[in-house]
Amino acid sequence: MPIRVLPTLLAAQIAAGEVIERPASVVKELIENALDAGATALNIEIHGSGTKLLRVRDNGHGIPANELELAIARHATSKIQSVDDLNHIRTLGFRGEALHSIAAVSRLTLTSCHHKQPTGAQLIAEGGQIKDIRSVGSAIGTTVEVADLFYNVPARRKFLKSDATEKRHVVAVVNQYAMAYPKVRFQLIIDGRETFHTSGNGKLGDVIVAVMGLDTFRSMIEVAPLAPLRDDLPFIEVYGFTTLPEVNRANRSHIYLFVNGRAITDQRLTYAVVQAYHTLIPSGRYPLAVLMINIDPEDVDVNVHPTKAEVRFRSPDAVFSAVQRTVRHAITQKMSPVHVRQTPTPEIDTDTKQATWPPSSTSSISKSSTSPTNSKRRQQLDFDLDTPNIGRYSHQIGQSQTDEAFLEEANYPHDEIVSPPYIQPKESDDPTAIPITIGKPKRPRTLPILRVVGQLKATYIITEGPAGMYLIDQHAAHERILYEELMAAYSQKQVITQQVLDTFILELGSAQSQALFTYKDELANVGFTFEEFGRNTFKVISVPALLSDRDPAQVLYGLLDDLANGDPAGEAEIEAKIVKRICKGIAVKAGQVLSHHEMQNLVHQLERCENPFTCPHGRPTFIHLSNEALEREFGRA
Ligand code: ADP
Ligand code: MG
Repeated sequence: MPIRVLPTLLAAQIAAGEVIERPASVVKELIENALDAGATALNIEIHGSGTKLLRVRDNGHGIPANELELAIARHATSKIQSVDDLNHIRTLGFRGEALHSIAAVSRLTLTSCHHKQPTGAQLIAEGGQIKDIRSVGSAIGTTVEVADLFYNVPARRKFLKSDATEKRHVVAVVNQYAMAYPKVRFQLIIDGRETFHTSGNGKLGDVIVAVMGLDTFRSMIEVAPLAPLRDDLPFIEVYGFTTLPEVNRANRSHIYLFVNGRAITDQRLTYAVVQAYHTLIPSGRYPLAVLMINIDPEDVDVNVHPTKAEVRFRSPDAVFSAVQRTVRHAITQKMSPVHVRQTPTPEIDTDTKQATWPPSSTSSISKSSTSPTNSKRRQQLDFDLDTPNIGRYSHQIGQSQTDEAFLEEANYPHDEIVSPPYIQPKESDDPTAIPITIGKPKRPRTLPILRVVGQLKATYIITEGPAGMYLIDQHAAHERILYEELMAAYSQKQVITQQVLDTFILELGSAQSQALFTYKDELANVGFTFEEFGRNTFKVISVPALLSDRDPAQVLYGLLDDLANGDPAGEAEIEAKIVKRICKGIAVKAGQVLSHHEMQNLVHQLERCENPFTCPHGRPTFIHLSNEALEREFGRA
């Protein structure tokens, strides 16, 4: 093909791709424009994923009627005039690209009334072509309505995720700006329902409550600005809120950073926040934080990326240390001296361990594989210590005596007593207690009878079977037991729900509450029902019976967080995900001391799991050291 200059619209569509990726990017640009126009109240409304209709209304200073056309022209901006202006940008926008890009890929209606003009005007454009401009009555301010986003860019439409995911991104964007501008009133309406709202009273704390929920906010402490270490250092002010070390999450997504009122992503600065907690929280766990970093606009370059989400600092090290020092100071001020000296026992998060057991082969084990001729199973249960890496036992095939003994044990008659004497009825509300299965129909044995020898590091259960030693990961094993129990009940539509006696209230962040609405039906299928009690506030009516005597609120918070962050696919998968999360939440943790009875009970339940070899996430539940391996290791063989 010969070289040709692209038609204007096509060029605009290509350029739009850089700025406008999804409905949330439109929302972001329109919010920025409203804030730049000095708006004190913003109303954001979307329908479905936001591609059908999306509207942002503000009470800013408006656009003069004779400038409407210019507003959607490429590189047209009222915010900068010269290259020099780039050095001290105080507005959120400056590239003059957003409205042009949005207009190119949608049907746009721009209505505005400038504060110095008696009437308003309206511009209608389709795919970048202006269709109409006329006078209309309008309050002072601007309304941008974007319909049929990407209607003329099918390639882009294909990359959009589910409605739930797109909504989540919109919620996240609105949440971010609301935190950055506590003095501005934000209202977000999704499908006709108000899902998020701030009062504009200027209190960051109130906005955090709206975003993250009251319970999370209660666990936060204020981060107050510190005086600079030396006078010659650049001005850097850091303030906001952060959690006490005992409240932490499995990922960094709850660390929000703002530079001069602009939400940014910066791995280094996120790390600075994490660093502030060094030795105070277990590695692999992260705090929740909302931090405002104010810095001279000359010391930061915001023109690094079209979406302006990344910035470049003139002295990155100074910013890093200011963030780390200020946060550290806030935490240590609030903590008791004992706290600061002693690192809390890190909870060993088994999630981060590498699964060395091939889950694909283990999942083939089923009830029918109890035949003594099933050599596959034999392979999976016998390992030796040939390889130096203790996690990677090689398989041993063709075993002798011990195997026979093992298999005999494995075929232990199924009609044995259902509730053996070692199962003690549970007396306390101890959340760690292992559920008891008295009276349940027995399932075929998939492991030999194991005798509990003891507990190691309050994390592993040492057991002995006919074919050697089994070292069981108590958390993984318990997760497996609970998972099979719940999934069995769920698949037979027999999830036993229990009305909550002391109904409790969940105060959620807007993303969590959006997740609750999105997955309401799936949550109900698994046993959770709610009643809306106020904005982002829900009364919990029932929970799965298995959860009733534990701490369902904690499990629910974790579960909704997961749902708000993940992108679950089909219905069954979501329910499996919910069930896995519940199991993870209620299973005994690593680091919990168990009584002999509890251990024996757990082990006996594991022996009858359909797939006792891995936890629901695919990690091994136990490591087997065969008698032969032991003999060889001790030079007895
Ligand atoms: P930029 O924000 O980078 O200047 P945009 O394409 O987003 O570029 O907007 C172009 C111009 O339109 C802005 O510079 C501003 O003058 C005007 N404008 C856009 N939205 C608004 C609004 N909500 N209120 C007032 N003026 C606006
Ligand atoms: Mg803009």
